[in-house]
Amino acid sequence: MTGDFDRRDMVKLFGVLSAGLGAADAAAAQVPSGAGAATIHRKNVVGVQVKPWVWTGEGIDSALDTLQQKANVNTVFCYTFDGDPNRISQVGANLPDHGVLGPGGRTSGAFFDYDPKYFRDTSLNQFRSHDDPGLDVIRDVAPKAKVRGMDFFGWDYNNAFPSMMRWPGYTKVAEIDVYGKSTTSACFNHPDYRAHLLGKVRATLEPHADLVAGFMWGCERMGPLDNLIGGIFATSGISCFCSFCAAKGKMRGIAVERARAGYVKLDQYFRIAARHERPADGFFVSFMRILLEYPEVLAWHALWTDSYHEVRAQLYATAKTIAPQKPFGFHMMQNITFSPFYSAIDDYAKVAATADFLKIACYNNAGGPRMSRFIEQLCNTVFADAAPDELAPVYYKMMGYEQDAPAKIRANGLDPSYVAHETRRAATGTGGKVKIYPGIDVDVPSGAGDKHTTPGDVRAAVKAALGAGADGIVWAREYHEMWLANLAAGGETVREIFAQKP
Ligand SMILES: [Zn+2]
Repeated sequence: MTGDFDRRDMVKLFGVLSAGLGAADAAAAQVPSGAGAATIHRKNVVGVQVKPWVWTGEGIDSALDTLQQKANVNTVFCYTFDGDPNRISQVGANLPDHGVLGPGGRTSGAFFDYDPKYFRDTSLNQFRSHDDPGLDVIRDVAPKAKVRGMDFFGWDYNNAFPSMMRWPGYTKVAEIDVYGKSTTSACFNHPDYRAHLLGKVRATLEPHADLVAGFMWGCERMGPLDNLIGGIFATSGISCFCSFCAAKGKMRGIAVERARAGYVKLDQYFRIAARHERPADGFFVSFMRILLEYPEVLAWHALWTDSYHEVRAQLYATAKTIAPQKPFGFHMMQNITFSPFYSAIDDYAKVAATADFLKIACYNNAGGPRMSRFIEQLCNTVFADAAPDELAPVYYKMMGYEQDAPAKIRANGLDPSYVAHETRRAATGTGGKVKIYPGIDVDVPSGAGDKHTTPGDVRAAVKAALGAGADGIVWAREYHEMWLANLAAGGETVREIFAQKP
């Protein structure tokens, strides 16, 4: 640590942050204590995520009726903003037994006509998807959900999708990696990006008080160390080293150049680990030595994650100011259930003060192949001293799981106890202050030869989640990926369970 604190940098950073956010945002950065107390939750939430193009392809009435009648859905998490145009390609023309490919699914952006006044403070103010200009999901879908007694939630999904970079201003807010290269991830410390994210919450909630019943925000991204360790959830780039992050690092007393040097060394080391060229003292010892030599590596990783948590807190505080009674929550990516490293830094206890509910990706069918690939990745990085079959028993102990060997979980999926375990862990971690909605795997795509969903799997996962005390469930991931028999099995099961626990 250098302690080369530069007052001018601090003034500059505060200046740009307040200029970008406005005084109201700066005030909203702190979540008032008890912000969630006014929230009114629906009992026994059964949710589902629906892509924008489904409404035009399948028809709004038809899709809502199917979801309500077959799957017992009472809460529609409707993509109001979707950064991912690619999920259509995973099913391609081979949709399951419902739906027609409608226009769209090709570009990212907002799927409602937002008022530009909410984006006056940011250059990121043009992002209306061109896919289907005739469709405004809030105007067109929300009233039809409402007359059916279903809640319409805005669902704002913000991964580091390369498609986002085509919108004006996004390259300007991109994270800069350790080698000075621009990435496809937007930087949470860039004031324009923060103002854009907060603007979307306002533009969704404020003008649509009678139609939008709640809001879910999601972003499947991780800090530089988790990205280096990798796995299926890593985004590209050891980042961020932009001028805003550098200034913030300096304010924390972290020597930016030392952090950069540590990450370069770690990057080189992981390349060696991936080739399994064992250092004299082994892989884990070498990894620890780099952390000891460059403690700035962990400090920079924490800087990224703290910034991410700050954004979550600002979003929550903003939503609670506009609509204190409406639930605001987060999608939690599945890596929180896989990675001991990511789980350490994305601590449920910290999320508890900034959310009314959490939808947790704990997909047990696709989770088998996914977890098996993650164990392999650990054996190419931090735990390269071991082979996947050797690491797996220790890894399961570390994570509290009782699961089969990697080859078996790949073929058979994870035992439903995995869903129960994560439900309990999240409920305990958040101290009962947050509603927990596990995502139930209904045909989450997996590879050829990997586990695929059956109706029995859905029944077992629902029983595991609700048996472990979940406050509701969300069919996952996307409605257009699901076979109706699987969805109907889930619908029947929740009906049976909720009839016993009205
Ligand atoms: Zn940055």
